[in-house]
Amino acid sequence: MAVSAPTQQLATGRAGSPDAPDDVLADVVVVGAGFAGLYALYRFRQLGLSVVGVEDAPDVGGTWYWNRYPGARCDVPSLFYSYSFSPELRAEWHWSEKYAAQAEILDYARYAADRFGLRPHIRFSTRVTDAAFDEATDRWTVRTDTGETIRATYCIMATGCLSVPNEVALPGLEDFAGPTYHTARWPHEPVYFRGLRVGVVGTGSSAIQLIPVVAEDAAQLTVFQRTPNFSVPARNGPLDQADEDRFVRTFDVYLAGLESPDFGRVGTAAFDAPVPPVDVQRARYERLWEQGGGAILLAYPNLLTEPAVNDVAAEFVRDRIRSIVTDPVTAEALCPTGYPIGVKRICVDSGYYATFNRPNVALVDLQRDPIESVLADGVRTASGTVGLDALILATGFDAMTGALARIDFRARNGVTLREAWAEGPRTYLGVAMAGFPNLFVITGPGSPSVIGNVIHNGEHHVDWIAGCIAHGRNRGASRIEADARAEAAWMDHVAEAAGRTLFPKANSWYLGANIEGKPRVFMPYVGQGYRYQCAAIAADGYRGFRFD
Ligand code: NAP
Repeated sequence: MAVSAPTQQLATGRAGSPDAPDDVLADVVVVGAGFAGLYALYRFRQLGLSVVGVEDAPDVGGTWYWNRYPGARCDVPSLFYSYSFSPELRAEWHWSEKYAAQAEILDYARYAADRFGLRPHIRFSTRVTDAAFDEATDRWTVRTDTGETIRATYCIMATGCLSVPNEVALPGLEDFAGPTYHTARWPHEPVYFRGLRVGVVGTGSSAIQLIPVVAEDAAQLTVFQRTPNFSVPARNGPLDQADEDRFVRTFDVYLAGLESPDFGRVGTAAFDAPVPPVDVQRARYERLWEQGGGAILLAYPNLLTEPAVNDVAAEFVRDRIRSIVTDPVTAEALCPTGYPIGVKRICVDSGYYATFNRPNVALVDLQRDPIESVLADGVRTASGTVGLDALILATGFDAMTGALARIDFRARNGVTLREAWAEGPRTYLGVAMAGFPNLFVITGPGSPSVIGNVIHNGEHHVDWIAGCIAHGRNRGASRIEADARAEAAWMDHVAEAAGRTLFPKANSWYLGANIEGKPRVFMPYVGQGYRYQCAAIAADGYRGFRFD
C-alpha cells in the first residue's frame, strides 16, 4: 500500500491518480476533534501516516465545545476524566476542582491540541456530509459542506456518543416569542436570566446541573419533568496537590486493571455475589452518599444485575429525596420509580433536590399534567398555563448513532450505514462494520463507550485501531473489513451481556428509547473484560477481520 507523506507535505491531485486537482489526499481522515479525535490525530501521525482532521465546530473539544450551559461540568472526577496516554501531559495539567467545569475541560482539550501540535491538521467549521468507498482505489471519498473532497484510505469516526442534540417537537414551540435554548447548543455569548420567568424541559444530567444555577437568577423557574432521574450529590470541591499525589499513586494500578479479564462493571462474577442484608446495604449507601459521586453504583458487584440489591439502593436514594425536599407532593414527584437505579445514566448534582425548596422554583409533573402546547408567552399544560419569558430544552441527544447516521456513508455495495442500521446499529467490537471496509468508529455502539470512562475508552479504541491498521499495512493489505459472521456473533454477545443485567429495564438513551422511531437496541457493551477480549483478538491476527 502506498503511504503518503505527513499531512503538511501532502500533494494534491497527484499525477496518475483519478483525483481532481483540489482533492485532499491522506492516509487517514479523522472526523471529530473531541478528546477521541485529537488523540487519533496524534496517534496516527505517530504511525507515520498522513492525517486530516475534520471538525464541525470552530475549535477543538467536541461535546465540551457545545455544552456550555450554566452549571455544565463533568460527572466523572477530573483526575480520571483526563488523557492517560501522556505522563508528561498528566504531570503538567492541574485541575482546580474535583469535578471540573466545562470551561476548564475545554481549556484542557485546547491545551492538549496545542501541546501536541494538532491544530494545523484539522479543518475547523467543516462538516462531513457524505462518504463513499471507492472499490478501485480502496479509499474513502469524504465530502464536506465546504465543498472539499478528501480521499483517504482509512476513515476514523470520532464523532462522539453524545453530540447530536435531541431537538424535540413540542407542539407550538415555533410560536414561543422568547428565546429558546438547547443545553447541547448553548450560545457562546453570556445568557442572562435575572428577573425572567424561565422554563426547563427535561430532568437528565444536563438539566440537573443547570437547574440549581439558573434558579439563583431567574425570577421564577418551572421544571417540566417527564421522568424523574436518580441523582446523587457530587460533593464537589477544590483539588490540591495531596489529592493529585494520591491519584498518581493508584493510577497505574487502575490502568492495569482495565486490561484484566475480570474488568467490567457488570461482569459475570456479579451473578454469584451474595445479597447483603438491607441494613448493611443501607449503611454502605449512606457512606457513599456522604462521600459523593456516582461510586454508589459500585457498592456491590450485583447492584446492576440483582433486583434485591438494586431495589434497596433505589429506595435509599428515594428516601434521601424525601428527606431533602420539604413539600411532600414535589418530593414524591421527584422520586424515580418503575425502573432500577443506575440503568439510566446516574446524575451527579450540586444541590439539585434542595433547589425545589426555593420559593421561585416549581415542578410540573408531565406524567400527570402533560404539555398541551407552547404558547407565545408560556406553556399550556392540562391543568393551566405557565407564563414564561425563556425556555430551555434540556432534552438530551440522539446518542451513540446520531452523528454517524446523519453522514451518508456508502459501502462497497452501495448500501448506506443508515440502511445497514435500520434495525439498530451492528458492529464488530464497536469499532468496525461488515460491508464498510477501512471505516472505524471510536467508542461505537457495541463497545463499552459511555459505560465507564469515555476518554480512556476512546484512547483504547484509537490504540487498537492503530494496531489493526499497522497489522494490515505490514501484510500489504489496503482493505480491512470486519467479517459479517464475526459481527453477528459480537452483536449476539452484546445483547446477551445486556440481557443478563437490569439495563434493558429502563427507557434510556442507551436503548435509543428517547428518540421517536429509533430501534430499541441496547447499544453499549456491558460484558466483562472488553479490553482483554480485544487484546486476544489482536494477538490472534485480528480475528474476525479480513485483510485484502
Ligand atoms: P437525557 O439524560 O437524555 O435527558 C433528557 C431529558 O429530557 C429527560 O428528562 C427526558 O425525559 C426529557 N425529554 C426528552 N424529550 C422530551 C419531551 N418531548 N418532553 C418532555 N421531556 C422530554 O439528556 P442529558 O441530560 O443531556 O444527558 C445525556 C447524557 O449526557 C447523560 O446521561 C450523560 O451521560 C451526559 N452528560 C454528562 C454530563 C456530565 O458529565 N456532567 C452532563 C450532561 C450530560 P425522559 O427521561 O422521559 O425521556
